[in-house]
Amino acid sequence: MDKCSFCGRSRKDTNLLIAGVSGHICDSCIEQANAILEEEFKKKDSFDMKEVALLKPAEIKKFLDQYVIGQDEAKKYLSVAVYNHYKRLIQPATSDDVEIEKSNIILVGETGTGKTLLARTIARMLHVPFTIVDATVLTEAGYVGEDIESILTRLLQAADYNVEAAEKGIVFIDEIDKIARKGDNPSITRDVSGEGVQQGLLKLLEGAIVNVPPQGGRKHPEQKMIPVNTKNILFICGGAFDGIDRKIGQRLNTRVVGYKAGDNREAIDPSNLLQYIAPQDLKSFGLIPEIIGRLPILTYLNPLDRNTLRRILTEPKNSIIKQYVKLFEMDKIELHFSEDALDYIVDKAVEFKLGARGLRSICETIMMDHMFESPGKKTGKLEITMAFAREKIEKANIALLKAG
Ligand code: ADP
Repeated sequence: MDKCSFCGRSRKDTNLLIAGVSGHICDSCIEQANAILEEEFKKKDSFDMKEVALLKPAEIKKFLDQYVIGQDEAKKYLSVAVYNHYKRLIQPATSDDVEIEKSNIILVGETGTGKTLLARTIARMLHVPFTIVDATVLTEAGYVGEDIESILTRLLQAADYNVEAAEKGIVFIDEIDKIARKGDNPSITRDVSGEGVQQGLLKLLEGAIVNVPPQGGRKHPEQKMIPVNTKNILFICGGAFDGIDRKIGQRLNTRVVGYKAGDNREAIDPSNLLQYIAPQDLKSFGLIPEIIGRLPILTYLNPLDRNTLRRILTEPKNSIIKQYVKLFEMDKIELHFSEDALDYIVDKAVEFKLGARGLRSICETIMMDHMFESPGKKTGKLEITMAFAREKIEKANIALLKAG
């Protein structure tokens, strides 16, 4: 009589018995075997994560280089910070008394220079939950806006509510400069979106167990809070800090005048003062010292010059141009941009002061008609020339002018 070769049950004791070459297997043994497999794969996955985490800083930077052009200084700082962060995570709990402290990061740079892209790329490499939050929507509890805990709600959602994974995640807080204290004088009205929020953020940055509303917001007062420990969450803050260059300039100037004028002054490049940023500049801008202390890694991003914009167009692994080529390839069209067309796109981005974000909108304007008309109709080669690009952009301009 047929029976399962694994557990020995006879056919009538099983729901299903599958025959193999020289034996049988029953449904419950399949289920068990499946569970074992899943368990094994899970173990393997976490092992893989360790492998990734053990990438050396230079290797992390190399990975970033594939997606982010330039910004070497910021990449170097980020790579070291992330490397150390992961060393902390894998250090055995019972070693000596030396506890490696968390190194949250603050990136200062004009908008559109790659701050978010850097943070996003890091998270992609590490395979950890990642979320981006905007500091401008945060207010102190009890005021219109979002509570600070909502940051962790987002992270939990990104982690599919796996608390353990979320506790090792990365949070990118954008526009941190917008919660700077408004002016030095304590104002009559309460500063609910400035200093109060900074105080609230402190707790998160330091590492604390925070009760997080899983659905976020205040609309579900009955929801059960989930405690999340922020000790191992890496916070990367970013901000444009408009006007901080003046404060840096003032500081550098007084220093230079105060000591030996002349020599030092020459070494300073006035066109990019951000590279000299120091914690005290953040303080003069309106961040409270406690926050600055919790963001020990301070680095900057360079403004994007024409040369960098040109490289951004084609070099990153998923550059805009590569994306168009791929899109057209799916319709069996071999798309090619001439060099002067690419130069023209960069010129327009510079002229309209659109930065890297503008590259995409300019390309969209140029490519729209082709994307609409070509699929299904055309195959073979398609060359985008400068004349064609100019025609499309000028037409778009006229349309805009007319609309205005
Ligand atoms: P920020 O956060 O500094 O305001 P983002 O990182 O969101 O700017 O950049 C906006 C877009 O511009 C990115 O999605 C990317 O396509 C492009 N970009 C900006 N800087 C770079 C860079 N250094 N290398 C490659 N692409 C960049």
